[in-house]
Amino acid sequence: MKLSTETFRDALLEAAKQIEQHKDELTDLDREIGDGDHGINMSRGFQAVQKELEAQTEYEDLGALSKQVGMTLIKTVGGASGPLYGTAFVKFAGAFKGKTEAEGDELAAAFKEATDGIKMRGKSEFGQKTMVDIWTPFYEALEQKTDLNQALDQALVDTKERVATKGRASYFGEATIGVQDPGSLSSALLLRAIVEVLR
Ligand code: ADP
Ligand code: MG
Ligand code: MG
Repeated sequence: MKLSTETFRDALLEAAKQIEQHKDELTDLDREIGDGDHGINMSRGFQAVQKELEAQTEYEDLGALSKQVGMTLIKTVGGASGPLYGTAFVKFAGAFKGKTEAEGDELAAAFKEATDGIKMRGKSEFGQKTMVDIWTPFYEALEQKTDLNQALDQALVDTKERVATKGRASYFGEATIGVQDPGSLSSALLLRAIVEVLR
């Protein structure tokens, strides 16, 4: 399971495409258990990322690519999710510094660091029906070398049935049970696009 600078760039372009395709769905979910802007926020951010990646096809290493993406997301996404996704990529930048490839334990450690960054930034933990519920089983599957897409599918099923206790959705209490968390869906779209390029 290896990620390279070139394939990470490919994955981010695919993620931008997926987010655009799911923009309305993300916004509709956020309308049910939030303020109805998640698709708009994510689209703005990933359209900006796409533009930059198309303008710059060569990156020195995985760290430089991650850093640029993180900064762009922080600047453009807004909402709660902007700093959270931004932090994940800034953590990738640290973990991937000077590396043109990452695999095995090194790759798993980078995703754990990104997840820890989200948790720290959001003062959140696993089980609160946020994007953390997707990122956590994902890095665990990388650590344990189990099926990554299956882990993401199961994580989406599980988080959907939880009560939101963090972020805007927590104001909706029990009404959040059975409604997908928008940030969990956008995270799954991003992480699935990354799985697709792992060799
Ligand atoms: P906002 O809630 O500010 O409108 P978005 O709608 O863009 O921001 O993003 C909402 C998503 O962000 C939620 O679906 C959830 O997955 C995630 N989220 C919100 N607060 C937190 C938090 N404290 N920790 C982790 N994830 C969070
Ligand atoms: Mg919102
Ligand atoms: Mg908002």
